[in-house]
Amino acid sequence: MTDVRVRFAPSPTGTLHIGSARTALYNHLFARHHGGTLVLRVEDTDLKRSRREYELSIVRDLHWLGLQADEGPDVGGPYGPYRQSERAPLYQAGVEKLLESGHAYHCFCTQERLDGLKAQQLAAGLMPTYDRLCRELTAEAAKERIASGEEATVRFFVPQGDVTFDDLIHGPITFSSDVIGDFIIHRTDGGFAYNYAVVIDDAGMHVTHVVRGEDHISNTARQLMLYEALGEEAPHYAHHSLIHGADGGKLSKRHGATSIGEFRDMGYLPSAVVNYLALLSWSPGDDREKLTLEELVSEFDMARVSKSAAIFDLDKLNWLNGLYIRELAAEELSEYIRPYLHEAGLEFDEGQREIVSAAIQPKLVTFGDAPIHAQVFADEPILTASSHLEALDEPGADIAFALLAEALEARDSEYFALEQARMILAQVGDGCRERGIKGKAIFKPLRVALTGCDHGPELFYLIAGLGRSRLLARLHTALGYLAQLGGRS
Ligand code: GLU
Repeated sequence: MTDVRVRFAPSPTGTLHIGSARTALYNHLFARHHGGTLVLRVEDTDLKRSRREYELSIVRDLHWLGLQADEGPDVGGPYGPYRQSERAPLYQAGVEKLLESGHAYHCFCTQERLDGLKAQQLAAGLMPTYDRLCRELTAEAAKERIASGEEATVRFFVPQGDVTFDDLIHGPITFSSDVIGDFIIHRTDGGFAYNYAVVIDDAGMHVTHVVRGEDHISNTARQLMLYEALGEEAPHYAHHSLIHGADGGKLSKRHGATSIGEFRDMGYLPSAVVNYLALLSWSPGDDREKLTLEELVSEFDMARVSKSAAIFDLDKLNWLNGLYIRELAAEELSEYIRPYLHEAGLEFDEGQREIVSAAIQPKLVTFGDAPIHAQVFADEPILTASSHLEALDEPGADIAFALLAEALEARDSEYFALEQARMILAQVGDGCRERGIKGKAIFKPLRVALTGCDHGPELFYLIAGLGRSRLLARLHTALGYLAQLGGRS
């Protein structure tokens, strides 16, 4: 299947939603797996709600996720234009063709007549469909009415019989055309119906597989009828499930963040988002859960995409994001967290920020968490609470503080490499042991003395990243408290 062509067709009426990103991802995985082509088509026919800035932000988010298209409005391609708003001549030509072949006809019915008809049908318990009044008009009569200035829509003449297609995810699906009335393909305002435009586009762009959300299943019957009437070969369809919140409702704002941009801003990595979205309805067939985009491409198989509703599970995304964060080099992490630290008013120089990054790396779920964990490197400890004093008041703590102060005073750099910090700490430990003080007993008081807190990054990170002058000031403060408590030092 090397000539596989798929498309991602967002409407630029908002930013990229994670549900749409999943559609883009499945298209990408399918195209790349088969060595095919991914087309980006911008469905901007809703002129009131579509905005170019949304299109740009969708393209930017797709790039961020690593899902660049091979053809599209930003990169061009052989079957453009790739914005529906620029394709009116192609839609018009298709309408002419359908009118000529008798698959479509002009309709002059007013909105009042159509509303009345619908009310009557509903009152009689019937499914409201157009009664084909204008189907009886000859082409000449229609032309004359148009020439005399009457407004007309163009309706598709729906053929009788069932429409069946074999969905790659759902299996065979059948629709009866009895429930489908002759639908409008060209409106009086000059616009073209979605179901019609999409067929002209997919056919014109030689799309072989349509991979999209299952909310489009019911559109597929109309689209297949149009293919038939136009004499075009229909693509294969794969309708994936939609994403729901844990409460079962369709994922929306009330469940929290829903757009890719929000996840990026909170400090998620694209690798984690892509990995998570792929696993929402698909698995590699074993228990692996961490897969890179390349691995997903090589293993993706539409036959293993589940049709059950996908439930959004933030804990799992967080878990994956943590795994990917743990894989970053300290320099990379340092760059990622810089804007978050800056925004929180935490400024570190580059070397110190790398130490801080390494120190907080095991704790991070998102980059947005960095300030909470890095705060300890910026704050002045408040050692007045009685619990802190108690924590300091361990036998030997004063000796440990003095030994550390001595070791620091003997050095002249402000920050230390992690190795050096480890050595300083070992030196303090050795000094304590020589005096019969157990290493364990002094770690907690040391931590409290240096941070005012009994948990946080490992001690050697604090020694490396807090800065010699600050470490010394804190040790002297702690020693002062201990002296007040019992004159030990
Ligand atoms: N523009 C449609 C949407 O955003 C997609 C249509 C399609 O994939 O056929 O839902």
